[in-house]
Amino acid sequence: MSYDKNNVFYKILHKEINSNIVIEGDHYIVIHDIKPKAPVHMLVITKGEYVNWDDFATRATPEEIVDYTKGIAKTVELMNLKERGYRLISNAGAFGMQEVPHLHVHVLGDSKE
Ligand code: AMP
Repeated sequence: MSYDKNNVFYKILHKEINSNIVIEGDHYIVIHDIKPKAPVHMLVITKGEYVNWDDFATRATPEEIVDYTKGIAKTVELMNLKERGYRLISNAGAFGMQEVPHLHVHVLGDSKE
């Protein structure tokens, strides 16, 4: 599947749509999901143009993969999820019911308090 620039995360990355970036790294941004499905629901989005996890793992540079993975860990730490735990979800394609065809990992957790 080739990358289609006509998606909301591409527009957020290119400032065509406003968003509140919570953390930014060299190769990722972190935002709050607009329709949270848990008390904490963050999206860790690659800056690079990748459709989904396998596309990223196949084409991204080692630097991108390391920085992105650490971005997930920073999100877990910032949202205070280390002790109580969290879920990571990355939907892909039709079976995965992926809505936005730009790689993102959902970080879901209980309240920050
Ligand atoms: P999925 O592609 O199915 O993994 O999910 C895409 C997620 O992006 C959904 O949970 C949406 O609520 C979320 N979403 C869509 N548009 C925005 C936006 N403008 N800002 C933040 N989250 C969004």
